[in-house]
Amino acid sequence: QDLFQSPDYFGIDELLTTEQLMVRTVVRDFVKKEISPIIEDACQQAVFPQQIIKGLGAVGCFGPTIPLEYGGGGMDYMSYGLMMQELERGDSGVRSTASVQGSLVMFPIYGFGNEAQKRKYLPKLATGEWMGCFGLTEPDFGSNPAGMRTHYKDAGDHVVLNGAKMWISNAPFADIAVVWAKDEEGKVRGLIVERGMEGFTTPEIKGKWSLRASATGELVFDNVKVPKENILPNVVGLRGPLSCLSSARFGIAWGAIGAAMDCYDAALRYAKQRIQFDRPIAGFQLTQKKLAEMITEISKAQLMNWRLAVLRDQNKATPAQISMAKRNACDTALHIAREARQILGGMGITGEYPIMRHMMNLESVITYEGTHDIHLLITGQDITGINAIS
Ligand code: FAD
Repeated sequence: QDLFQSPDYFGIDELLTTEQLMVRTVVRDFVKKEISPIIEDACQQAVFPQQIIKGLGAVGCFGPTIPLEYGGGGMDYMSYGLMMQELERGDSGVRSTASVQGSLVMFPIYGFGNEAQKRKYLPKLATGEWMGCFGLTEPDFGSNPAGMRTHYKDAGDHVVLNGAKMWISNAPFADIAVVWAKDEEGKVRGLIVERGMEGFTTPEIKGKWSLRASATGELVFDNVKVPKENILPNVVGLRGPLSCLSSARFGIAWGAIGAAMDCYDAALRYAKQRIQFDRPIAGFQLTQKKLAEMITEISKAQLMNWRLAVLRDQNKATPAQISMAKRNACDTALHIAREARQILGGMGITGEYPIMRHMMNLESVITYEGTHDIHLLITGQDITGINAIS
């Protein structure tokens, strides 16, 4: 049974509007009913639970900030953040699927696509009828996407795409892929590649100990003929994928704290019930220290996320601020998951409780969309003016 009680030590709920609270309630209820009961099994089996896709679309988790006329939710970023928090409270893999669909597939089509592309893809992506994935990382280029080798050549009414992408969330079942590739001048452009195009395959990456309920794969392009009308016309250069990442990282900052809240909540409840030496382990000072530090760090991150959403809704959040919030949230959440697991002792390693699953998931979340260290260097560059990355 899902007993989750959301911690709100600093009364942040008072800063949210009725609509925002309603959005959160809808997604929280969806997670309790549709995700919590099946997620442990999906993780143990290492399968993405495809049956939740339609429901995720129905509660508005795909592209909530995309305008209504294209099938999106027309909501603010605060609502988007709250949705991602609730989904990742359920599981980081489920949140990843929604993040990719909304921020990495619908966001670039909406921001950089033409009218025909928007009308063709966005409404179907919003309902989950079509699922998308985002191909930036390559086997030899992760933190340094500028080096990418995937490229295309002009061939009349279409282009011919060659190369490979690696570690792509949703790839094994996606209907379309937003792929970043170099043109003949070496400029990075976005293309919409559709499943079924000859020479396009999406082998699954097996054997993950993290994000097991999320399907991850490669994208392989072997002389794929992509119609020119599938090229996103309104962006050239790495600015395209990087702006998508800013949108997704915003959601990750909220999501990771959702996972941390779940770990804290489970550990607090367990500590009050578990008796050792004739008293609840919550009565031992060292347990209280762990719990006190957890709720302190959660509160700090919640406040940062709230302020980040206010700035984002005013169109003032900088990529460096989003980067800091993403890094802080992931680091905080991973630390909290490890401490929470200790509080549960042996039970902490089992699937009876969500903690070990969150902990393993967060190892991916702290790595993808920019590793912890790369984000440190983004802050470093922002405050010193000196680029230490390249
Ligand atoms: P590398 O870039 O090889 O980094 C390895 C280590 O070197 C890291 O610790 C890094 O911090 C460090 N390092 C690298 N450069 C520097 C530097 N200049 N200074 C200091 N340290 C440095 N990508 C997509 O495009 N789409 C997806 O949907 C997607 N989903 C993913 C899902 C999962 C489960 C995972 C694990 C990854 C996913 N990724 C996806 C890829 C992810 O974004 C990359 O793994 C990430 O960017 C890091 O790249 P890398 O793994 O090649 O590591």
